[in-house]
Amino acid sequence: MKFGGTSMAGSERIRSVAARVKREVAAGNQVAVVVSAMAGETDRLVGFCREASPLYDPREYDVVVAAGEQVTSGLLAIALQAIGVPARSWLGWQLPIHTDDAHAKARIGEIDTGALDASLAAGEVAVIPGFQGVTDDGRITTLGRGGSDTSAVAMAAAMKADRCDIYTDVDGVYTTDPRIVPRARKLAKVTYEEMLELASVGAKVLQTRSVGLAMKKNVRVQVLSSFTGEDAPMADTLPGTMIVGEEEITDVERQLITGIAHDKNEAKITLTAVPDKPGAVASVFEPLAAANINVDMIIQNIAHQSAGSASATDVTFTVPAADLARSIEALNQARGAIGFADLVHDTRVAKVSVVGVGMRSHAGVASTMFTTLGARGINIQAISTSEIKVSVLIHEDETELAVRVLHTAYGLDAEEAA
Ligand code: ADP
Ligand code: ASP
Ligand code: MG
Repeated sequence: MKFGGTSMAGSERIRSVAARVKREVAAGNQVAVVVSAMAGETDRLVGFCREASPLYDPREYDVVVAAGEQVTSGLLAIALQAIGVPARSWLGWQLPIHTDDAHAKARIGEIDTGALDASLAAGEVAVIPGFQGVTDDGRITTLGRGGSDTSAVAMAAAMKADRCDIYTDVDGVYTTDPRIVPRARKLAKVTYEEMLELASVGAKVLQTRSVGLAMKKNVRVQVLSSFTGEDAPMADTLPGTMIVGEEEITDVERQLITGIAHDKNEAKITLTAVPDKPGAVASVFEPLAAANINVDMIIQNIAHQSAGSASATDVTFTVPAADLARSIEALNQARGAIGFADLVHDTRVAKVSVVGVGMRSHAGVASTMFTTLGARGINIQAISTSEIKVSVLIHEDETELAVRVLHTAYGLDAEEAA
């Protein structure tokens, strides 16, 4: 069982989580619980680091931000004990949960489960702080924002759990963020591949890495709500959304488009008048790769030639907004090698994506998207596609409208608004 930030926000919520865990134990299950920090706490701790120094040491950042989960894991163990459930917390370094040393975005390696298995066999509930691990030389790491989902899936895989139940503040994965589109529909099942794509283009209900890991390790993941009463159906009846292999989806259940996601955390950069010659594009993206910056959408316009000068082209691409300053710095440093005229950037953009495995066998998905947005006067600034996804970059202010009209256009609206 994994409980997210809103589920752990305050003593009353933690007591309610403890009661839910107790129900599972009473039903005869052995339970390991992974917890997030209280909602808002990680942001608060990140803020302290920035105040201490804008150029903070990521190793010390990890020491600070991992603290939020340490608090909630201890509190949940206390709350469980208080209602007669034997429980103890296991911090990342105590198990240990080994990670690499990529501080602030570490990857989980080995997890030793010997002590945990013994504790569970002895009838204890194990409470494990999400988001944290430890390097081989004993330094605390964190897994990147939203990383408790990945902790939970990794624990489930290591312990060979029957299921990994992710409890959050919505009762499953919806066709789009239900906070933006009240007519969004809950999906009973979604494939690993679609969930991976949805998460990577902005559906933050699961951290992208957690889905990749679940797919690789074949972990059965269910997303469900912790905000239901004591009379709510047990998790075994699968009241939420199951992430499943494609073979588990029947033809009747299969939709052309499964979901729509948006992401406002990208920034657009355009380099004008880049020389049109072999190696020019490489010279743009090499310095960004060297700075560890992920480039997402890319468009290169056809070359144009003005009298007397060599032909040149404009190159537009997106990077994470958080990396914009570093990107500009890297590109300006490489300006001599690239030879561009101007660098123009814009953070007031959003990426809206439609995802569905049905696209593989059906034409017209992209054209429906462009027609629908065009009819609403929404201008498309960049496009990218994969086998099961089409993404467009638009003005940030039009995000909600775009998601809503696309949701309707692809026939995803629920019968009645929730
Ligand atoms: P937790 O703190 O439990 O990890 P998150 O805030 O990380 O919770 O994720 C849950 C939120 O994800 C929901 O409140 C919802 O607004 C958002 N969300 C975005 N896209 C979707 C979607 N397709 N289905 C369900 N929730 C979504
Ligand atoms: N507390 C961490 C965060 O806010 C990890 C998580 O909640 O998944 O990013
Ligand atoms: Mg989350």
